[in-house]
Formats: sequence, structure tokens, C-alpha cells
Amino acid sequence: MKITRIEVIPLVRKLEEEFKGGTYKIVNRNTIVTRVYTDSGIVGEAFGGDEDQRQDQVVNLIRDHFVPLLVGEDARDVERLWEKMFHSNIDLGNRSIHVLDLNNRGILMQAIAAVDNALWDALGKHWNVPLYKLLGGYRDKVPVIAIGGYYQAGKTQDALNEEMLHYKELQMAGVKFKVGRLSVKEDVERVARVRELVGDDFIIVCDANQAWTPDQAIQFCRAAAGLNIGWIEEPVQWSDQNEGLRLVRDNAPIPVTAGQGEISRWGCRDLVVQGRVNYLNVDVTIAGGVTEWRRIAAMASHFHVKMAHHEESQVALHLLASIPHGLYVEIFPNRKRDPMWFELPAQLPTIRNGYMELPSGPGLGMPLNEDIIARYRAS
Ligand SMILES: [Mg+2]
Repeated sequence: MKITRIEVIPLVRKLEEEFKGGTYKIVNRNTIVTRVYTDSGIVGEAFGGDEDQRQDQVVNLIRDHFVPLLVGEDARDVERLWEKMFHSNIDLGNRSIHVLDLNNRGILMQAIAAVDNALWDALGKHWNVPLYKLLGGYRDKVPVIAIGGYYQAGKTQDALNEEMLHYKELQMAGVKFKVGRLSVKEDVERVARVRELVGDDFIIVCDANQAWTPDQAIQFCRAAAGLNIGWIEEPVQWSDQNEGLRLVRDNAPIPVTAGQGEISRWGCRDLVVQGRVNYLNVDVTIAGGVTEWRRIAAMASHFHVKMAHHEESQVALHLLASIPHGLYVEIFPNRKRDPMWFELPAQLPTIRNGYMELPSGPGLGMPLNEDIIARYRAS
């Protein structure tokens, strides 16, 4: 099953509206389609990675460095090919201050992820099984939550209520609700109004996107303790991810989730071993692909840390269905926030009674819509 060529297609789509979380705004939806062609006729195909600023660098790294390394190799040797990409001594530019080094490493790990995910799709097709079955097949459906509660210009309480009720109509199991942009008191009030509206059996998790000091995060969690919040995600600012996160975990009555900012198993190891998280939401399209995600999930299970996932449910669905300690997949049901999710797959997985059902086709089981690829191909 020799690799004959690899195709990398960056897509970008300007959103009709801006969406604001605790610390950022989203104006575009980006993704990268990667296709690994093999001499058996099987084509491994995956999309992922919502990276606006450095998408071209990820794509160029694959085209210029990984393609020559991988063509001629056996697509079934995913572990060996992962190591080959990771240890390829690519010149990522001049050494710089540590944060900028990390930036380059992030591009490397996202590029590895794009190829690795397509290789796993090829493996599923080779063995003619859905990816989650190939990985262990723990369940056939995974609870699904909506990412919402964004801060938008002119958004009224009525509009927010309508949004939450819409998620219930769509048979979502719950919502990941944005907090962190207003005062702690105002955000607690927003969440309390939503809990009152949706009732007790609807999952609410809150995502602060690194907006708070540890004190503010603990203050939020204590004030929201009676609201049945499933977790607080990325509560503290980027500068205090070690001790700050541990303080929240030790002093807040709500479980702590982080990991989407990590790019490797080593970063996730430190989050887990140093007791900073209850749950990890490391992203398979950012942190080295299916191969690396599975290593992280195995490590986490030794410490009773459960696995969530940041966005990208086309791959996350399979990962979370393949392990006993998986939590929820998440999507943006608002088409304006994530038009790619609705249009890029030729057929979407079924959502019913709070669960997303696994596709039955081989690999990721999600062929892509060629028209959408052609229309949104980045220059
Ligand atoms: Mg998040």
C-alpha cells in the first residue's frame, strides 16, 4: 500500500458575522483537506484545522517537506511515518524567543496531524471498517453538545434564549457556553438564566477561553456551583497555565478542562501529572493527529482524566467512540459560525436524542463535497 502522492488543499471562507468568545473573535472558517493516494487505489482523506493566520505555512510544510519524505512509503506504517515526520529536522526558521519557537512547533504538529489523519482514513478503508472500530469500537454514538452563547453585537436576552431552545429542538445533549468577556457577576447571571430556561437535564459546560485570573475563575465557579455546570474550560490566562490552573482545580467546585492549547503528548502529560485538569480537550487536528491523540488518551486514563475534544467532530467522533473515558463531541449548530461543517461532508452524521451517531462507511466515513472544495480553495 505504497503512497504515490499527497494532495493538500487549503480552504477559507469568510463568515457572514463576527463571533466573539472570552478573548478573541472569529471572522473566517478555514480548513485543510489532505488526501493521501496509494498504489492500491485507496485514497485516505481528512479535513481539519481551523487556522486562519498560518494556514499557508502548514500547507507549505506538508508540500515541501513531508511529501518527499512519504512518497514511496507504506501507508499502513502510521507509527513509523509519524516518527519520520516528527524527527525530520525541518528548519523552522531562526531560533527566537520561546513563545515564537512554540509557534513554529505548532505549525509542525498541525502539519503532521493533517497527514496522519488522512493516513488513518486510508487504514480504515484498507481494512474496510469505520475508524472507531479500527481503534477499538467502544460505542456507536457519542453525546453531542452545541458550541454557543457567543457575545455578538446587539444580541438580546431573547435572542440568547431562542438560541438555547433551538439547540434543544435540534436534539443536542447540551451546550458549551461562552463566558469571560463580561464581569464574573454578569457572566454567572447569564449562565443562571440559561439554566433556568433549559431545565436541569440539559448539559451546560462553560468556556472562558483563558480570560480570567485564578481568583476570578474560582470566584465564577463558586458562584455558579449550584447551576450544575459540567466543567469550566480554559479558565485562566495564558501566562498562568501551570500554577494558576492547579489553583482553580484545587479550589473550584466545578471540574476543570484544558488541553486545546497543547500541541503534543508532553504538554498534555504535564497538565495531567501535575493535577491541573479533570478533563483534556486536546484537538486531533492541532496536536499531531490520531496517532498522538491515542497516546494522550491512554496516558490520561492512567490518571482517571477523561477525554473531551476541541471542535473538529468529523475526526473527534471516532476518537471519543473508541475509548471508555470519552465525553462529548461538539459542533456549531449555527450555520453562520461553521458553514464548512454543514457543506463540506457530502453527508452529515445523524444527531438523535442527544447523540451523534457514527457513520458506517470505512475510515472516517465522510466523503467530501467536491463543489465546496472547488468554491472555497484558498489562493
Ligand atoms: Mg475551548
